[in-house]
Amino acid sequence: MKLIILGPPGSGKGTVAERLEQDFSFFHISAGELLRKEAITNTLQGKKIKALIDAGHLVPDEFIHDLIQKKIGNKRKYILDGFPRSVEQARMIEDFQVNKALYLAVPEDLIVERLSGRRVCAQGHHGYHIKYLPPKKAGICDIDGSALIQRKDDLPAVIKERFKVFHEQTAPVADYYQKKKMLIIIDGSGSPDEVYRLVRKVLQLETTNTFK
Ligand code: AMP
Repeated sequence: MKLIILGPPGSGKGTVAERLEQDFSFFHISAGELLRKEAITNTLQGKKIKALIDAGHLVPDEFIHDLIQKKIGNKRKYILDGFPRSVEQARMIEDFQVNKALYLAVPEDLIVERLSGRRVCAQGHHGYHIKYLPPKKAGICDIDGSALIQRKDDLPAVIKERFKVFHEQTAPVADYYQKKKMLIIIDGSGSPDEVYRLVRKVLQLETTNTFK
């Protein structure tokens, strides 16, 4: 099964995808994660990517498409988290034969609260929230013991810009999959456990009825 997970910044895409990876053995491909890895390479390209991410802007479609395609390789069971983020990117992966696009719907005021309290570990993999998903020891990742940091693009001015980009470029991707009858809208406003329960319910139904 091939899944796309869509939603505004801070809607919980990464958290859901991580859990799907653990429980359903999906190969989790996070576009943001791939790009952050590129951004820390001390190359001209890395610096350009870092500047785009830090400003809340999208990187060029071709670039992220190529990274994603390379990462997928010949995998057949994966979840794309944060890709596609523009209709152009969605068109580029028509031939991937994705089964479903899950859309996590979350009101904007809740998202601002989520993003401003979000922390990630320095290794870049594990996400926390100071209020909703705190680590056992403040400032330290439960899983790999690295320091928890606040992403630059989770600062208020950049959050605003990311919303703008989301409305202009990514929201139309949901319409694109709606028209193809591939979109499943999920209420993403609950706790991580509640949202994941909804996702699992939907996927188990889909798994039983449609996919083998
Ligand atoms: P995320 O971790 O998914 O919130 O992504 C962080 C940032 O990476 C975004 O704000 C963009 O700057 C960049 N990015 C992530 N995914 C994409 C994509 N599909 N297309 C272009 N830029 C992206």
